[in-house]
Amino acid sequence: MIYALLTPKWLAAYLFTPILYQIARFLIVKFSPYYLLPASANDPNYAAQFSNAGAGIFHGQIVNDAFCDLILSRIKQHENSDVVNQITQANSMHKNAILTNEIGLEPFISSFTNFFFKKIAPDVLPGALLKTIDSIHSYVVRYGISLDRDLGFHVDDSFLTINLCLNDGFVGSDLQFEGQRCTTHIDTLSGEHERVLIKHKKGKMILHHGKNRHYVETIRKGERFNLIIWCQNKSERAQWFDATKNQKCPDWCSYTS
Ligand SMILES: [Zn+2]
Repeated sequence: MIYALLTPKWLAAYLFTPILYQIARFLIVKFSPYYLLPASANDPNYAAQFSNAGAGIFHGQIVNDAFCDLILSRIKQHENSDVVNQITQANSMHKNAILTNEIGLEPFISSFTNFFFKKIAPDVLPGALLKTIDSIHSYVVRYGISLDRDLGFHVDDSFLTINLCLNDGFVGSDLQFEGQRCTTHIDTLSGEHERVLIKHKKGKMILHHGKNRHYVETIRKGERFNLIIWCQNKSERAQWFDATKNQKCPDWCSYTS
């Protein structure tokens, strides 16, 4: 009986019960197969469920609606709480993003990321994107007319970014990529093959090299919530800052003169 009450389905239901919310938030600490789409017999590692949308960009789906709805329910709980105006800025680019550790989901997201890297990433990603994860920075972005409306051209503080759409019911807010660049070449023009536009859909995740330049187009209707996970590696970060300081162009930079 106790076990039944602790299944992810019930834990998600508890999130709507204020008295039990604080208990439930500490119980959801581990990602479980409950949140995975059923694997196909021909593709037990989900590799065929991802398409290669461009250089170092992959788009596909492995989690079910329950995974998205769990995170969304935490966001809604947070929005309805007294601390809604006390959020710590997730980074300098967003006014309305919420850190997963502020809604009690950081252990769950870390568990999911570790599962993904161990069980799925080796079958989907090229070796250059399979570095050791030394740290994770995760947050939920919120786009809407009264939230962040768009996001300017930038690169991420990650060697790999996981970007998962949590809901449907919005128009616009597509993600535009412009190719991988180092700091020295960050403002150079992109080639036609580097320009990749991806439309978000609930449950689908985009995996991309953190230094593939991108921006978010203006949202025209509704609200969009996406989970963003920056996967970071100490050595890669050190090389980035070293290349920035010494104006070196790393081998992954796609700039051609
Ligand atoms: Zn470069």
